[in-house]
Amino acid sequence: MSPLTVAARYASIAVPIPLRQLLTYRIPDDWTEVPPAGARVRVPLGSRQVVATVVESDAAAPEAGLSVKPIAEHLSGDPMLPPDLLELTRFVSDYYLCSWGEAIETALPPQLPPVRPPRRVVAADANIEVPSRAGRQLRLLERLRSTAEGLAWDDLDTADRRAATALAERGAARVIEAPVEAGRIEAPAIEAGTGPTPTDAQRQALDELEPAIDSRTFDTFLLFGATGSGKTEVYLRAAQRALDAGRAVIYLVPEIGLTPLLLNKISRRFPGRVVVLHSGLAPRERLQAWHRLRRGEVSFVVGTRSAIFAPVADLGLVIVDEEQDPSYKQDEAPRYNGRDIAVVRAKSAAAVVLMGSATPALETFRHAKTGRYTMLRLGDRIADRPLPTVVCVDMRTTYQDSGEVQVLSPELVDELRNCLAAGNQALVLRNRRGWSVALLCPKCGERVGCPRCSVTLTWHRSTSRLRCHTCAFETKLPDACSRCGADELKLIGEGSERVEALLAEALPGARIARMDRDTIRRRGAHAALLEKFDRGEIDVLVGTQMIAKGHDFHRVTVVGVLSADQPLGLPDFRAGERTFQLLTQVAGRAGRGERPGRVVVQAFDPEHPVIQLAARQDYERFYDREIRYRSTLRYPPVAALVELIVRDADELRCRTWARTLADAVRRQEPGRLIIAGPGPAPIERARNLWRQQILVRTAGRRRLVHAVDRALIEIEGEIPRRAIQVDVDPLSVL
Ligand code: ADP
Ligand code: ZN
Repeated sequence: MSPLTVAARYASIAVPIPLRQLLTYRIPDDWTEVPPAGARVRVPLGSRQVVATVVESDAAAPEAGLSVKPIAEHLSGDPMLPPDLLELTRFVSDYYLCSWGEAIETALPPQLPPVRPPRRVVAADANIEVPSRAGRQLRLLERLRSTAEGLAWDDLDTADRRAATALAERGAARVIEAPVEAGRIEAPAIEAGTGPTPTDAQRQALDELEPAIDSRTFDTFLLFGATGSGKTEVYLRAAQRALDAGRAVIYLVPEIGLTPLLLNKISRRFPGRVVVLHSGLAPRERLQAWHRLRRGEVSFVVGTRSAIFAPVADLGLVIVDEEQDPSYKQDEAPRYNGRDIAVVRAKSAAAVVLMGSATPALETFRHAKTGRYTMLRLGDRIADRPLPTVVCVDMRTTYQDSGEVQVLSPELVDELRNCLAAGNQALVLRNRRGWSVALLCPKCGERVGCPRCSVTLTWHRSTSRLRCHTCAFETKLPDACSRCGADELKLIGEGSERVEALLAEALPGARIARMDRDTIRRRGAHAALLEKFDRGEIDVLVGTQMIAKGHDFHRVTVVGVLSADQPLGLPDFRAGERTFQLLTQVAGRAGRGERPGRVVVQAFDPEHPVIQLAARQDYERFYDREIRYRSTLRYPPVAALVELIVRDADELRCRTWARTLADAVRRQEPGRLIIAGPGPAPIERARNLWRQQILVRTAGRRRLVHAVDRALIEIEGEIPRRAIQVDVDPLSVL
């Protein structure tokens, strides 16, 4: 008889590096328990060890002759991905052409040293005798028996801990691990607020949503309504419906939209039932929130894009507020869009997706028009509040009248003065940080650029530094031009910092504050500014696009927009869409209370159709015009698009690689793909790396993604994978 042998067992494992293939590892023979799919393990990879994920625990044996390393450790205490999320991350890796391991890392909370749940000592078997000489043990037992919940281990001194251990050995006490308590945003005892009675328009939307939520079938809705039309109230009632049916809700908000003002509103309606998940939380808080959801203690999560991977069971509804917001797209691998993944997840969970916007992404509106999504029209503002009146100011005229390029037009200054005199508040948008846009030598025309990137440096007066907005390089103001030696360099163009200073001059005595990435670096600074403004302690808030997002301030009557037409000049097919959205969003902050709003839009080309349509807040006309342009040029949403960027420190090698890659793409689907490039990317050099861009388009996305995937496989070994950046459905090609 042959000796009893155990057949070797293997597992397929996704490792968190940019490697599309799965790796096979051997399950050690002496393991009685096989780590299931979704389990976290430690495995050797090259010369190091990494934490990775089992995706198949019963994998086929590798080809004969291949040496396979054993799994080093099964990390059973770590968060484990439930099967539906494991499947969702596989979808992400196939769709966005990233590694499955990278997609899993995005879906899981950050890795932490294992959390030790707090321990408690409780009394156990009362029949156990403790000898009278063990005085400390007896005294401790006395204390333990007088409380139901026992004593916290951390509160005991060393002698008592020793006594507790001795009692546990006798069986008279037990040391138990109490569950980890975590990140609630409000105590549960409070009674839930009810919210206003829905308007007719809100009721009609809910009449379509509620049966869909009840029916447990997949469906996607677009709630299309002007700024201030009451979309939030519809979200909250839809959420209520799903929760009442015992199902979970994921409520996605853009990064900058997750404000205490919104969280307050939500937690007042659902006290103690909401968990918040976003990247600004400390890693431990995120982990705790994740565990609470996984254990089913809460089933309502509000968060930014990665919350779409929240480990809730029985998902009933996903809300995507401001669905067009670019922050739903991650700008590093995996370059997924949380809004699009919401649809995929909801489909497999038989759940409803509710997207909302006043200015939907062209993709979304097209789906709603063709019936793939259900359109819910909310119409204009609540309580017949008018949309704000928009005046366009032609800055060419202002220039001719004053003989100088003006930053603030007399029209805007007048509006602001009147606004403040009436005790109201104003917002001024300048979507560019810093003091100046560039530093120019008026003699030779040289612009001071970043030594590592092909962009000009921005002067920041508050820190007295020239800074690169691409790589954060900093330097001091040079005394003279490095090219011609002239010593009168000029700061040209104005950023938000300078606008703030000019407003202070124009409006003496006004309380002016600025909100852009420079002023909200500290954690909580963003929230603090918004709350201050909400309390009326700021008269004029100047800032970049982050002042435009979602806020519901009732005392804002004037909104100013500077250089409104500037972004239209960018070489990006979405420039018009972005400009329209930003203008409409920021205009939508005016007149949300009792008093009507006025918007002053300054532009050098105020006749531009995008500016005109935004001034009229006529999204549908804008859509019709824009979709014609996209059809003609075959850009999304009419065609699918993948952007490939090849990066390398050596310019020549970068170009060679880009050509190799483009040729490989060209060999796929001959005649079917539209390939532009390779050529220098709009930012040709960033962080010391040269950048070559290839844009690939075709009608069918599946075909396109497959073609690119095959091309990447063909050039494997010729070009290192880290040199290639793949962006499926890019939001910007700059
Ligand atoms: P949106 O999200 O569409 O921009 P909001 O949800 O912020 O709009 O609503 C705009 C304003 O109208 C808010 O101040 C909100 O409290 C108020 N509101 C919403 N629904 C109602 C309602 N049914 N009755 C009275 N006020 C409402
Ligand atoms: Zn730089």
